[in-house]
Amino acid sequence: MNLVFLGYPGSGKGTQAKMLAERKNFAHLSTGDLFREEIAKGTKLGQTVKDIISSGKLVSDNIVLEVIESKIGSLKNDVIFDGFPRTVEQAEGLENLLEKYSRKVDAVLFFEVEEREVVKRLSARRSCSCGRVYNVISNPPKKEGICDSCGAALFTREDDKPEVISKRIDVYKDLTSPLISYYRTQGLFHIINASRPGEEVYGEIEKTLSEEKI
Ligand code: ADP
Ligand code: ZN
Repeated sequence: MNLVFLGYPGSGKGTQAKMLAERKNFAHLSTGDLFREEIAKGTKLGQTVKDIISSGKLVSDNIVLEVIESKIGSLKNDVIFDGFPRTVEQAEGLENLLEKYSRKVDAVLFFEVEEREVVKRLSARRSCSCGRVYNVISNPPKKEGICDSCGAALFTREDDKPEVISKRIDVYKDLTSPLISYYRTQGLFHIINASRPGEEVYGEIEKTLSEEKI
């Protein structure tokens, strides 16, 4: 089963994808995480995408599709694509790639949440290099500024700084939101109310997947 998680940055796609991956044994493919790993490792790809990401723009479709192509052959059967596709071109590219392996997108879950909620969440987000993510208001670490899991100092992602947040929202509206009608016409589209607490959102995802026999 191939799932696509679609929605504003900060709509909770990554959090839910991690939960579903852990509890239901999905592979979790987050292009954002992947690029951040490359940046941390200082690879050529990391150097290419670093400034693009910190300015809130999208990495080019060619690069993104190359990265996905290099991973797709070795993925297990159940996959969550998180933060990809982000443009109609990428969605078409994904279809072509999946077809080569006799696979297809089985469902698209759209994480519906209001713009002002997204701004609030992204502004309150603090990240750890171990991959954990906190919200300093609704889900703070036990000790301020310190990761509960690994004890490292938390940081604010470059692209979670206020001026970049608004850029990312504009980019989402221009380039990513057309995917809503793209997938709706294909009948793959499911709306998830993502403005509720994490466990409730998770419950709705589980229900949607079982009702649709996905
Ligand atoms: P969030 O979870 O907050 O939406 P991501 O971690 O998914 O953020 O992405 C961070 C940044 O990485 C994006 O703003 C963009 O620059 C880049 N990126 C991630 N996925 C893609 C993609 N599919 N296409 C283009 N750029 C991407
Ligand atoms: Zn940590």
